[in-house]
Amino acid sequence: MTAKKFVCSNCGNCCKKFVSENSRTFEGAFFGAEKKFVMNQRFMTLYDWEAEALKKKLAEIGSNRKIVPTSMNFDLKNDQAIILNYSFDKGECPFHETDRCTIYPDRPWICRQFPCLHKTASMLTGETDKILIVNNRLCPVEEKDWPFVESGKGLFTILEQRYGQAFYFNIASKMLARKKSELIEKLEKEGRIRLAKRGYDTEKLLLRIEHSRKVNLSEFYKEETGIDMLKSFDLIGVLDNLRKKYG
Ligand code: SF4
Ligand code: SF4
Repeated sequence: MTAKKFVCSNCGNCCKKFVSENSRTFEGAFFGAEKKFVMNQRFMTLYDWEAEALKKKLAEIGSNRKIVPTSMNFDLKNDQAIILNYSFDKGECPFHETDRCTIYPDRPWICRQFPCLHKTASMLTGETDKILIVNNRLCPVEEKDWPFVESGKGLFTILEQRYGQAFYFNIASKMLARKKSELIEKLEKEGRIRLAKRGYDTEKLLLRIEHSRKVNLSEFYKEETGIDMLKSFDLIGVLDNLRKKYG
């Protein structure tokens, strides 16, 4: 099957009405619960290093918009909040100006993936042969062309043909998420951290978070491993392997 190349119509929905795939409950932001819309806030996921860079850009344009943490792990043993992601505080992206992105060369990864936000992680783990490609309902072009269900074989080529670079960024972000999970799992096994799990008293946790050390995930990763998280994976190698397996 040859995939139809995705061509953006520049409607601007993804900059004005962004909805996270991972909209979570307030509780879920701490414990990783999924798919509940209690936070009642649309947000776009920003990595910590992006948040720092975008804060500077907001200051440059004199904007009073805020960038706030949206997801964290809390380490009860060392009293530290490990911040995983950030987002803008509310509303549309402050860098969107009539039909254009004012920071296009420096836009965050989430924008570079759009609208390729599909659940391709299973390709990396080989968990499934059939993958449901869920179109992003914000995007009128996607709405028209998708969704479809495709078998594992051929999927890589289809997604690469349709999304090009956006697909690579999607894989890269899945790899980063995996890196983080592996590190957290290792540290927990070694008893060096103890994460708050679901069921822990949320009010109590919020109080502890307020007075705790806050550390960004990438800094935490570097502290624990001495390695720069971003530079610690071989994207080209992974893409080559996926191409061999699913191309
Ligand atoms: S950074 Fe640019 S591409 Fe991303 S949401 Fe904002 S305006 Fe759109
Ligand atoms: S929603 Fe889709 S068509 Fe509209 S600007 Fe974003 S990517 Fe392009």
